[in-house]
Amino acid sequence: MTKRILCWFRRDLRLDDNTALLAAYAAAEEVVPVFIFDDAILSRPDTGAVRVAFLLESLRNLDENLRARGSRLLLRRGRPEHVLAQLVTETAASAVYFNRDVEPFALARDARVRAHLEGRCAVEGFDDGGLTAPEAVRTKAGTPYTVFTPYRQAVLAQPIPRPRLAPAMLRTPADVPSDPWPSLKDLGFATSVSPPPGGETSAQARLQGFIQNGLARYATERDVLSADGTSRLSPYLRFGCLSPRRAYWAAREAVPEGSPGMESWIAELIWRDFYRQILFHFPYVETGAFRRAYDDLAWENNASWFDLWCQGKTGFPIVDAAMRQLLTTGWMHNRARMIVASFLTKDLLIDWRWGERHFMKHLVDGDLAANNGGWQWAASTGTDAQPYFRIFNPTAQGKKFDPTGAYVRQYVPELRAVPDRWIHEPSRMPPDVQRAFRCVIGVDYPAPLVDHGRQRAKALTMFGRFASPEKRPGR
Ligand SMILES: Cc1cc2nc3c(=O)[nH]c(=O)nc-3n(C[C@H](O)[C@H](O)[C@H](O)COP(=O)(O)OP(=O)(O)OC[C@H]3O[C@@H](n4cnc5c(N)ncnc54)[C@H](O)[C@@H]3O)c2cc1C
Repeated sequence: MTKRILCWFRRDLRLDDNTALLAAYAAAEEVVPVFIFDDAILSRPDTGAVRVAFLLESLRNLDENLRARGSRLLLRRGRPEHVLAQLVTETAASAVYFNRDVEPFALARDARVRAHLEGRCAVEGFDDGGLTAPEAVRTKAGTPYTVFTPYRQAVLAQPIPRPRLAPAMLRTPADVPSDPWPSLKDLGFATSVSPPPGGETSAQARLQGFIQNGLARYATERDVLSADGTSRLSPYLRFGCLSPRRAYWAAREAVPEGSPGMESWIAELIWRDFYRQILFHFPYVETGAFRRAYDDLAWENNASWFDLWCQGKTGFPIVDAAMRQLLTTGWMHNRARMIVASFLTKDLLIDWRWGERHFMKHLVDGDLAANNGGWQWAASTGTDAQPYFRIFNPTAQGKKFDPTGAYVRQYVPELRAVPDRWIHEPSRMPPDVQRAFRCVIGVDYPAPLVDHGRQRAKALTMFGRFASPEKRPGR
């Protein structure tokens, strides 16, 4: 009998350097690639339309690339354990292969799948989503790293696997039916935001473009908000349209050892792994502070302030530009993410989890490990986080990272005519200047929602209670 293996794609939507797919190809005569639409994910309140749109396009591209190799992608909808059991019966497959995930939801789902398929076929999970497996990098004491710099050094001391090419041809049985391709609407979503083109083909093109034109400038331009100074590969890494090992080696081999752009970009790829292993080893961070004492912080949680923050109407131009970039494009610059997260938690004194949820709903790259890590870093509740007494001044951040105001003007049209001198603090324009430039504060553009100095003092008091010896974080 022909040996068949089901290859269950989840967030590894590519053929290049796909560990489970290559293992299935090596072990079986026929491979059955399948993607399952899971209503438990589609119905989650933080599953955003822009991410589902990107997913659909990535699946289309995966199917095209499989067809070019003599195969195709089967689509099914339902509970994965039931769908896979049904497919095992239909195809007489001897095994289900997939790439492991680190999210608590995925780990529980995969445990259910294993239990359900026991006795029917083999089930094998592979490490694929990072530069290294989440358990692979440990301190000398055998514990997971919770501080980034030594973690980075430990990763760099390990051999990072070289990426492997996709199988040239794949045999897939012709008689296994697929569900029809759903539209975004069929899946219950609609959006006016256009995500970047999904899929492995676009990921490879973007990687090549960045390596040729962006990597050398990365160290100097990555924090300039108006520059196209970063790779914008995050949605592709999020859905596995790009292998992190392919990205790592492409950068490593493109420029001489020690090049600042390359070193700093690779450090970002390692941040991604760092937060993956944090989520894997400390799954409680999904709902609470890494430093557990901070679960008792007395957030003020003013709901109308939160709405204004979400809409980009706080009266702080850099914050408003960033929040509108998120709503209109589904992506936000990393520096801007840090600024708005600091502003929400330390100026508005709103629980970081509120901001985390809003980001998850709207980001095309929304990813539990990186998003949670970024929010807990900014809120000072996380591992190796920004110390609580370092509070960004949003106006100073705007002047430093958007010196010409180009980023603010791109996303906040009310401020387009405001002269450079006032672009980051338009409320300081004298009334006649406001009228002259058609930006009357309180009419055309909001007055600042809060006084930064006063809120900063409140935040220091709020956090300071937990920094005293008897209430030190990490109790
Ligand atoms: C509050 C907050 C929330 C965030 N939420 C997410 C999220 O949901 N999904 C997400 O992928 N990133 C998140 N980040 C990290 C970072 O902002 C994005 O990865 C980055 O902006 C993506 O742009 P890029 O692809 O051009 O990055 P580049 O600068 O080109 O970096 C290359 C890759 O490294 C990874 N990376 C870069 N910075 C980080 C980081 N700090 N943590 C983890 N991985 C990183 C990403 O995969 C990125 O694509 C968040 C950061 C903060 C401060």
